[in-house]
Amino acid sequence: METMSATFRPLSDGQLLDLPGTLPVLDPATEEVIAHVPDCTSELLDATVQAAQAAFSGWSRTTQAHRRERLETLAARVLEHADELALLLTREQGRPLAMAKSEVLGCVHWCRSFAQMALPVAERTDKSGMAWTTRRVPLGVVAAIAAWNFPLMLAFWKLAPALMAGNTVILKPSPFTPLATLRMGELAANLFPPGVFNVLCGGDALGPWLTAHPGIAKVAFTGSTATGRRVMASAAPTLKHVTLELGGNDAAIVMPDVDPAKVARKLFMGAFLNSGQVCIAAKRIYVHDAIYDAFAQAFAAAAHAVLMGPGTREGVMLGPVQNRPQYERVKELIAATKTAGHRFLAGGEVPEGPGYFIPPAVVDNPPDDARVVVEEPFGPIVPLLRFSDVDEVVRRANDSEFGLGGSVWSGDVEQARAIGARLETGTVWINSLHLLDPQSPFAGRKQSGIGAENGVEGLLEYTAIQTMVG
Ligand code: NAD
Repeated sequence: METMSATFRPLSDGQLLDLPGTLPVLDPATEEVIAHVPDCTSELLDATVQAAQAAFSGWSRTTQAHRRERLETLAARVLEHADELALLLTREQGRPLAMAKSEVLGCVHWCRSFAQMALPVAERTDKSGMAWTTRRVPLGVVAAIAAWNFPLMLAFWKLAPALMAGNTVILKPSPFTPLATLRMGELAANLFPPGVFNVLCGGDALGPWLTAHPGIAKVAFTGSTATGRRVMASAAPTLKHVTLELGGNDAAIVMPDVDPAKVARKLFMGAFLNSGQVCIAAKRIYVHDAIYDAFAQAFAAAAHAVLMGPGTREGVMLGPVQNRPQYERVKELIAATKTAGHRFLAGGEVPEGPGYFIPPAVVDNPPDDARVVVEEPFGPIVPLLRFSDVDEVVRRANDSEFGLGGSVWSGDVEQARAIGARLETGTVWINSLHLLDPQSPFAGRKQSGIGAENGVEGLLEYTAIQTMVG
């Protein structure tokens, strides 16, 4: 495929900057360089923080109605350019075009939904006649840092509530997937006063500069748990607020009273959507002994039948792994799983490139301490695990440092809810997976995160409390 002729420009202080593109961006389906983006310097970051601080004074005092209207205009502009943004996402991220389009439409929906939310005000008068008013006020400059698996969606989950609450924003995409985000920044450039919304891209140094910068009041971060720890440490010296959406190792529990073939087909996509690079993918699938064999057969059949290829090709369901380091990590995990003697029901062989393609790998009932069970692979490999008792499976599901999501599959919804309530996770799905809604908070427990995104709770993460007495 051809290199893109478009230039990708950071947005700082209302200006789209024509800087030399020095960082290559690859198409993971071909490993060809498709574009170059600038590597923003610490001087540019300083200037951008200053501009965002200066803009805060005015923006934070605009009415919620004004901010609502601006966000709705941004949503409309993204919608107008949905096809172009989706193609950029597919080229840089790898996933099928239809799924990339869903991500863009999701951004529009989330942006509009946050635009409708209001900051609560609590008022009361005490016995002496004194008025007590508690407001939620914006924090200042927000650094929004996104991962490469859903570049635009993760950006909108942060920028929309942050701007709606009256903050100014510096958004940083992953160096692996900056293109759609930079293009979106270009679309937004004249929608906000200079300095209110900024998009900077760069190499590995830019994230740490942002999280340590004394001019930044809050860091909203999505990425791995390991990086989340570094972000929190880096935010500590200036006591920045943080929201951390981190890794997961979600268990799916399949009870014996379901149709195994039907649930296997659903859970197959629940595990392998976006080639397994989903924080809330089913990453450990516990299947009751009574239906394990039938389930495993149907699950492996789905793995053999699925069409893998470049996301731009018609009918493709699974694209490549997004980047070389992740590709190497998943290949290493497959090799280690083989070396440990665990059996594969599908996959396990990785074809020669070009492209970071890994056929979906399904591991047959490895022991609980196998790496493929304990670690978050974040790629197309999943273990199926037998269980025979509810208490036992709940204990095994909870035996993890992660606590992001989980699912229970059963014909008896009440029983499934009772099991789900025992999972130590921020979200539990019953007979479904991956359902998220801007109205409901999404949060990780344990080492899957701190704070929440989405819902009014997500909006309030971008505020401080101010109580006025008198
Ligand atoms: P990552 O932690 O490597 O990078 C995430 C972002 O942080 C990137 O923009 C990166 O450039 C930046 N970054 C890297 N080091 C940094 C540092 N020291 N300080 C500040 N920023 C830094 O994560 P990834 O590999 O891009 O994403 C995959 C991980 O993200 C998985 O673990 C996945 O489960 C998790 N994830 C979580 C959610 C969620 O909502 N909980 C959603 C999507 C992905």
